[in-house]
Amino acid sequence: MPKTVPISVSSIQPIPAGWQQQLSQAITDPLQLLKMLEIDSQHFPQCQEASHDFQLKIPRSYVEKIQPGNINDPLLLQVMATGFELEKIAGFKQDPVGDLAAMPIPGLLHKYQGRVLLVTTGACAIHCRYCFRRHFPYSNNSPGRDQWQDAMAYIEQRADITEVILSGGDPLILSDQKLAAVLDKLGNIPHLKRLRLHTRLPVVLPDRITDELIHILKTMPQKVCIVIHANHGNEIKSAECKALKALHKAGITLLNQSVLLKGINDDIQSQKELCETLYANGVLPYYLHLLDPVAGAAHFETSEQKAIQLMDQLRSLLPGYLIPRLVREKPGENSKTPVFGL
Ligand SMILES: *Cc1c(COP(=O)(O)O)cnc(C)c1O
Ligand code: SF4
Repeated sequence: MPKTVPISVSSIQPIPAGWQQQLSQAITDPLQLLKMLEIDSQHFPQCQEASHDFQLKIPRSYVEKIQPGNINDPLLLQVMATGFELEKIAGFKQDPVGDLAAMPIPGLLHKYQGRVLLVTTGACAIHCRYCFRRHFPYSNNSPGRDQWQDAMAYIEQRADITEVILSGGDPLILSDQKLAAVLDKLGNIPHLKRLRLHTRLPVVLPDRITDELIHILKTMPQKVCIVIHANHGNEIKSAECKALKALHKAGITLLNQSVLLKGINDDIQSQKELCETLYANGVLPYYLHLLDPVAGAAHFETSEQKAIQLMDQLRSLLPGYLIPRLVREKPGENSKTPVFGL
């Protein structure tokens, strides 16, 4: 009998070299994804309809971290379009965190004292199904060329702004050239003490962390902090470890924010392992967010009570510095709101 060789995802198509090429070859068809993972499409009825509204998008390197055949894989569930998204649930809204009301200039969010958030691009390398910006009208609210100047002028004129957060979308989707142009402008604003990037790319497209990028970040006059977004330890394999360690070695402060997601990471083992894996790669847990009530994501919600119990358990298992802050974002508040037990 011929020996059967197990089909691994990588044998279907090799991963191409450059990060931009990888981006352009991301999987966008739910049925293709299921085929690659040897999962019968009957397990995900309406996946194609759900992908119309908010397109499925997953880089191949991320698909490789999903266990073939496992319909409950914690990475698959974050990115697979499902019929649950089409259900209308009371209280789950288009703009759950009041972003549109907090924008003095298109693309610039100023909610909290001392720090502003720049929507550098609407694009992401991956589409997370629970994303609170899944309905964000990026086309009207990502700065075009003129609006960049307005956003920069706003920051320059306000000496009370000491930190700029590049967000999106994902700021590391920008080419090195574009990113360097933005950073160059920010680098020349004397009252800025800190620069921060909120990016999921070290976790979902680790090849983006090139020597050139590290050089750009390392040569900034301000202290640079990167807040990554990992929700599960399985997202951090050898390529991601390498990317994170390179950033860490360059003296960049690395933090992680994650979202508490039902059936994905709302168990003590997943939380503990995530915190330990992060730290092993130079990253400290920062925020654990309760889900923002965005339309289409109700099926990811974990109760506040369960979240508080998990935090109590986590504190009994790990040192204090490996415990993320459990928070919720409430529109109109002057910071993220901590969530405590009674
Ligand atoms: C979350 C957020 C920040 C950052 O808050 P920190 O507590 O400093 O991490 C800043 N601006 C906006 C608009 C935010 O949503
Ligand atoms: S990477 Fe961030 S902004 Fe982009 S889809 Fe995922 S959660 Fe949303």
